[in-house]
Amino acid sequence: MSKFSSFDFSGKKALVRVDFNVPIKDGKITDDTRIKAALPTIKKILRDGGSVVLMSHWGRPIKDLEKKPELTPADFSLSRIVQHLSQLIGVPVIFTEDSIGEDAANKAAALQKGQILLLENLRFYKEEEKGDAGFAEKLSKYGNVYVNDAFGTAHRAHASTAIIANNFDNSSKLFGLLMEAEVDAAQKILSQSERPFTAIIGGAKVSDKILIIENLLERATDIIIGGGMAYTFAKAMGGNIGQSLCEDDKLDMARALLETAKAKGVNIHLPEDSLAADRFANEAQTQIADNKNIPDGWMGLDIGPKAQAAFKAVILNSKTILWNGPMGVFEMETFQAGTKAIAEAVAEATVNGAFSLVGGGDSVAAVNKFGIADKVSYVSTGGGALLEFFEGKVLPGIAAIAE
Ligand code: AMP
Repeated sequence: MSKFSSFDFSGKKALVRVDFNVPIKDGKITDDTRIKAALPTIKKILRDGGSVVLMSHWGRPIKDLEKKPELTPADFSLSRIVQHLSQLIGVPVIFTEDSIGEDAANKAAALQKGQILLLENLRFYKEEEKGDAGFAEKLSKYGNVYVNDAFGTAHRAHASTAIIANNFDNSSKLFGLLMEAEVDAAQKILSQSERPFTAIIGGAKVSDKILIIENLLERATDIIIGGGMAYTFAKAMGGNIGQSLCEDDKLDMARALLETAKAKGVNIHLPEDSLAADRFANEAQTQIADNKNIPDGWMGLDIGPKAQAAFKAVILNSKTILWNGPMGVFEMETFQAGTKAIAEAVAEATVNGAFSLVGGGDSVAAVNKFGIADKVSYVSTGGGALLEFFEGKVLPGIAAIAE
């Protein structure tokens, strides 16, 4: 049993860092996935007979209030999620109008077993993002156990995500259930991956994914590269890529990555063909083009049928699969087939026994769009945090607890 599951919270006041940075439009929460993801942790603490002090950030109030005069602090307040959160848990959530200060201190001190308190957006204080030890210490007084369940911010050494842990001894700081699941799944991929291990890396720019590819070259047997970033590789190999996305300052680096892969015996799979368009629009004229010979004036916006078939074969042969980044501009229907085919192949490989992890913003949107989220082994809630994990970096939020 995990440390969290076996921990007895009865009589404890748990200070729980969650990631409630949910999209809100016109006062309405448009996607409550992150709130729902934290519920099992909150419910277990209450079930045990403990109480919960929740803390989270929302947006970037200090920066945005400075830049956009039409916004007010109310546009960043966590008070906007209190009602929805209360409904989801079935317990009225008490709210403090301040993250630290008299109101927070009084309400935290008065909190009874079975009750939940939510602190106002931590990022109203610059000390939060600065990782200020004094601010962290003030927060730490609101509970006697610290639980970090915010994987999405685990790559930040902020006051509430990492520094605060210094105020608790090892027996009173732990991951929540979401964080445990995220770390387990990611570690399974990095340290215990069964081979063949295929990493599927897509998305717009190579520059965003260089570090992750470099680190995966040490571990994967196969790396599939799709999306806009594949054209920098195609050009680096002497191809004509028309108007496709390209980072000309990364051509040498792309060549170097291909050489390193060869030396290490890692198979790099680049798309053989593309669905090319005469403009960046859903209504564009399209044609299938060889990836090394995309006509001038045309741009590759999705992988083509040969690439789909080749990538599918690699995926179906894999025992471990990591997927980050779409194969094309899947937001437009005309260019979604490549990403859909990959999503279906990952689902099929998982049914056949592979362990698959999908993570990082757009790939999660893709698995949701194509209805396969429950057909892969794990869908991560972490964007930047997940990428940094696979880049091989130590995440401060993990290190602060897993000493
Ligand atoms: P990323 O955030 O780096 O994972 O990139 C995701 C974005 O890349 C999505 O919005 C896609 O529309 C975009 N994208 C994928 N393939 C292409 C392509 N061939 N050309 C331009 N944009 C692309």
